[in-house]
Formats: sequence, structure tokens, C-alpha cells
Amino acid sequence: MKKAVVTGVMKVELQEFPIPQATGDLVVVKIHISPMCTEYKAYLEGEHRDCLGHEAVGEVVEVAQPGAVQVGDRVVVTPLFPCGQCSLCKQGDYIYCKHNYPMQDATMAQYVLKPAWNLFKIPDDVSYEQAALTICGLGPSFGAYQTLGLSASDTILITGLGPVGIGAVINAKYRGARVIAVESNEYRRNLAAELGADGLIDPRDPDAVEQIKSLSGGEGPDCALDCSGAVPAHRLCIDAVRCRGKVAFVGECNTETPIVISRDLLRKGIHLLGSWHYNLNDFPKILEVIRHSPLVDKLVSHVFPMSRIEEAFAVSASQNNAKILLKAWE
Ligand SMILES: [Zn+2]
Ligand SMILES: [Zn+2]
Repeated sequence: MKKAVVTGVMKVELQEFPIPQATGDLVVVKIHISPMCTEYKAYLEGEHRDCLGHEAVGEVVEVAQPGAVQVGDRVVVTPLFPCGQCSLCKQGDYIYCKHNYPMQDATMAQYVLKPAWNLFKIPDDVSYEQAALTICGLGPSFGAYQTLGLSASDTILITGLGPVGIGAVINAKYRGARVIAVESNEYRRNLAAELGADGLIDPRDPDAVEQIKSLSGGEGPDCALDCSGAVPAHRLCIDAVRCRGKVAFVGECNTETPIVISRDLLRKGIHLLGSWHYNLNDFPKILEVIRHSPLVDKLVSHVFPMSRIEEAFAVSASQNNAKILLKAWE
């Protein structure tokens, strides 16, 4: 089977690998679509990597024992290899499982091996293209909004309009919230405007906080969601949100964000929360967004056959894109 491999700085190619085999409760999924996510970082860094991609949709083609899925089932493949046994897995918060199978398997490939229990079955009225948005496209913001309780009476600040941030705008609009979006990339700002963002802010403006406050009644937005993983955006969210507001973080970040407990938290009474994907039990609710949001199609900016992997990575790294879908067999 073919699988994407980063072979150097801005170098990616398809190489041949053996097809995985079903064993125990690990089943083989023939991948139809692999959405692109953060893999462009490996492409820019250039370290050799043959395990790219963590989200996919496809069809179960081999099982080793009776289980949660059967051959022929259309399924969503989610990140990681959670155990299915611990309390987090059992309550649907599998993404936080600390007992993952000791394995790695990539989704930028034609087949992938996955625990059967963690595959979400795709209903007949939902296409593979639509189901591909239930993972990192709409998932992280959906999970955060469930915890924030985001509703039509709220104004939300969204920082960073990559595919996750664009998904966040779509999810917020679906809930009827007012959206103030922050992004420096013009392509992405224009896309947010098309999606009906009520305010658009360039984070390079020195008065960005004041602009955000004036767009939200002077007090600041009720909630903020950082999708950028950038420290200045974390500060912007904390500084701009109103007293007693809530800030959620879904953008990965491994550097320190300075926070002064008294000034930033106690005396503003704000809540900070981290969120990673969403609870498995909410999968039917994400499907409702896909079925009924008039904006959801705009989340996909490009579809590439996997044979044009180099072009797909170049677009992904350019940041002039929303979600990119790779068709694994074309
Ligand atoms: Zn677990
Ligand atoms: Zn992802």
C-alpha cells in the first residue's frame, strides 16, 4: 500500500509499505479520505517521518474477531489508540486515555489498523467527505463549546483561523453566537468574513484588545477560544474576555504563557479550560451540525488525490487554506 513519508525539508513522497493485518480487536480500515492537519510542521522541519496523519474516514475491510464493527462498515478514524477499558474511555473521553495501545499507525496511507471499539460508524445519509469534518475540522471547537456552554446569547472571541479556527467559526455560528475572529492571514480573514464573522481583528494592531471590547459592548466577549497555540493570542484572550468570562484553549502550545494569578484570574473571576477533541457520546451531535449548517461545506478549501501529495503539503504549509482532504486511492 502507499503511505506518505517526509524525507527532508519540504520533501514528501509516497512509498510502498505492507498492508496491516487485523489482530485481536484491532481491525483494518481501508482509508478513503485522510484530512490534513498539523503534518505540515513535520514537512517544514524535514525530519524523516513515515507516520503522518491521525484522522481518516474509510471502510472496515478485515476483522480478527467479532466486535464493535464488521467488514463493510463505513467509519470515522479518530486520533490515538485508546484502551477502551479505563474510566475515561468508558465515559467517552477516550482522547485523554493514559493506556493507549503501544503502537503507532498513520492515516496518510491507504490502510490503517485501529481498535474496533473506537471507530465511529457513519450513518447512510452522511458522505465520507462530510464525515471527514467530524475529526479535527469541527471536533476541537465542538468539544470546547460543549464545556463552555456556548449559546446564542454569547459573543465569542476566536483567535487563529487555521482549519480548527474556521471550524470554530462554523460551530459558533451554528449555535447562534456572535463571533469576533482574530487572524493575521488575509486568506483566512476573508474566509471568516464569508462565514459571517461579526468582527474581524488583525492581531498586529496595537489596539486589538480595545477593538475587541468595543465590538462586545465595552466589557469584552463572554467567551474566548484560542485555536492558534500562540502565546500572544493566549494573552489576547485573557485580556479581552469580560469579567466572569471563560477562555478555552484547543491550539497545541508547548511554550509558557505568562499569567499573573491576581490580575488575570482572581480579580477578573475568569475560567480557563483546556479541551482536546470531544466526548465520543457527542458524535451524533456533530453529525447534526454537518446535516444542518449551511456553512459546513466552506470548511474544505482543497481536495487532492494522494498522488499529488507534494502539492497538497505545499498548500498546507502556505496557510492559504482551510481543511485539505486527501483522497487515498486517487
Ligand atoms: Zn483508556
Ligand atoms: Zn488533527
